[in-house]
Amino acid sequence: MIERTNIAIIGRTNAGKSSLINLLSGQKDFAIVDPTPGTTSDNVVTLMEIHSLGPVKIIDTAGINEESDLGEKKRKKAFIALEESDLCLLTFDFYELIKTNNFEIEKELLDYTLNKNKQVLLIFNLIKDKANIDESQIEHYRKRFESEFDVPSLCLDITDFTEQNKLIQFILSNFKFPNKNFDIFPKLSSKGMVFLNIPMDEETPELRLLRPQEIVVERLLRNFTIPVLYRMDLKSARSKDEVSQNIEKERFINLINNLKNSKEGLQFVITDSQAFDVVGKWLPKDITLTSFSIAMTNFMTYGNIDYLRDSTYKIDELLKEEDLILIAEACNHNRQCDDIGTVQLPRLIQNLTNKKFRFEFSFGRTFPDDLGKYQMIIHCGSCMTDRQKYYRRLEMAISQNIPFTNYGMVLSYCQNKELLLRALEPFNVGI
Ligand code: SF4
Repeated sequence: MIERTNIAIIGRTNAGKSSLINLLSGQKDFAIVDPTPGTTSDNVVTLMEIHSLGPVKIIDTAGINEESDLGEKKRKKAFIALEESDLCLLTFDFYELIKTNNFEIEKELLDYTLNKNKQVLLIFNLIKDKANIDESQIEHYRKRFESEFDVPSLCLDITDFTEQNKLIQFILSNFKFPNKNFDIFPKLSSKGMVFLNIPMDEETPELRLLRPQEIVVERLLRNFTIPVLYRMDLKSARSKDEVSQNIEKERFINLINNLKNSKEGLQFVITDSQAFDVVGKWLPKDITLTSFSIAMTNFMTYGNIDYLRDSTYKIDELLKEEDLILIAEACNHNRQCDDIGTVQLPRLIQNLTNKKFRFEFSFGRTFPDDLGKYQMIIHCGSCMTDRQKYYRRLEMAISQNIPFTNYGMVLSYCQNKELLLRALEPFNVGI
């Protein structure tokens, strides 16, 4: 998961969208440009860094006005890109617009996009030698169209690569990412260390920390908070041999006490979910405890963790025998025999509730449009995908009034309901 801004380029066929992605990314031959309508058949993605904005994903979409069965499929993909974006560049063929004065499609697109809380900027594609029109007329029409749409606009020759900087400056001066400064830990102070428990086993990848661990460390450092990274020997911690278990317990408790009694003090403890039960037992109750997975849930949902908490509690409060649960994973990965999504979660839920539910699964980019037949959605942590993709799915569930939660919350809930409540304390959640 990389935190970045998603920019979708949308508009009719032949508006200049592919040329715009090429101009913005500075790659002349990146997307195929051709006067044949419908050349772009699927979303085309490129990544870049824009100074002062950070990492950016740009998505070129197919024209939304293509009338055919294929056009319908392309449109669906374009709308997904739009819903997963932070900023939409609504692109027009400027001369066509002057000629026809027809912007009904774009108006609908603009309303839809603004309703989804996305920012929109207008790009008027003006190829200078295409028509005989002087600068004052260009400015006259640009202002007229801008007032029709009531969002900032820029007129430029998209095929002219000297215009790249003008385009970037226009984006930088008009785009404001509303959630940019959203913090994972809303109550974090720069005073007091944070203890990070990171057990490592055979499945832990070498030479790197897991992405949620990296993100948490980065956030703490940025806040001048001192992170203390600790590797718990989970095998010993769980051992039936009391001597080795006590050695590990003592090592852990000693460090916690030293931090707590230090001048800096200890703010809270954050653990990998797989050690949640052990840390929950060992850590004194007056010390705040949470998990990487709960922290990432807060991050991925821009603080909408309440909805996931409430949904989790519906597992045994509301669900009835034979209810249908969708288990969704954001990537395709090879499945082990005790796969968490397809095997462990259904088993844990049935053991907890003593009810027989039906389960459906979706993987990777596939996610149903109509969620109406499900009584609950349980999503993976989405570590491999954009936060925007995850959030779009959450918004779909909220708009259809379907409970939506994730693996981390459900696993904690099934293990120990009290522990889940404890883990939610560092966030702005009504307990
Ligand atoms: S959490 Fe989701 S995105 Fe990450 S590896 Fe698991 S299934 Fe894939």
